[in-house]
Amino acid sequence: MYHHVKKLMYTVHVDHADPSFGNMLLEQFGGANGELAAALQYSIQGLNCEDLDRKDMLMDIGTEELSHLEIIGTLARMHLKPMKTSRRAAESDPLIAIAGGGGVSLNNSMGNPWTADYLKITGELDVDLRSNIAAEARAKIVYERLINFCDDAGTKDALQFLMTREITHLKAFTAALDSMGKDPFTIGNIPPTPGVVDQYFNDSTGQGDQGEIDVRGPWNEGSGIRYVEAPMKMEAQVTQEEVSREIKRATGKAPEPTAPRSKRFRR
Ligand code: MN
Ligand code: MN
Repeated sequence: MYHHVKKLMYTVHVDHADPSFGNMLLEQFGGANGELAAALQYSIQGLNCEDLDRKDMLMDIGTEELSHLEIIGTLARMHLKPMKTSRRAAESDPLIAIAGGGGVSLNNSMGNPWTADYLKITGELDVDLRSNIAAEARAKIVYERLINFCDDAGTKDALQFLMTREITHLKAFTAALDSMGKDPFTIGNIPPTPGVVDQYFNDSTGQGDQGEIDVRGPWNEGSGIRYVEAPMKMEAQVTQEEVSREIKRATGKAPEPTAPRSKRFRR
């Protein structure tokens, strides 16, 4: 059940309306990392969630994001308002001025319509929580850029609140994922192929004009990782023989024989 209270979650005050900035604010209204996308992503994940503890969290945060949508919409509308009467202001976004009457609509800052494609909902709770952590990080950095381009104190204040809440959510999703007690590299139920899972392919080679070189780091060395000079030696194509060799190397025993191709793919 949804209930609306005639108060904003955070008071919004704009000293100087700036239609161009109002247009930028729409990125967080109808954009890919905006408040509507967040609200619906978490709420719909919540509808699908059978873990009642984390379902409660998804519905709490999803609902808070709707309150953020109301704040950013109010803020954007205040900045866009001069478009209703001023030709000069209208020129900063003819779509909003002419088609939308100077009000907010569900478009991003470039006028592209909001789409459900923005939502990441897999129905696998730990996978969804990872998407949410990334979504909060993206929302945070978009707010930070808006703050950096903003010269209105009242607007900055509201954006600082919205940006802060994204970090609060990022912490909550991270804690919820950690508390599931899952191995961070175990996704779903089917285990990855041993051996192959630890191969790192050096697929970008040589030295670049900007000084780019082949770098070794924790992502391609240590803890069982096998560095493969793939392209130079044409080892990039992984054959079934190679997979069998890797399984034997990693586990010390030969893999279960797989059914012949013709049998496996017979209709
Ligand atoms: Mn938000
Ligand atoms: Mn958030």
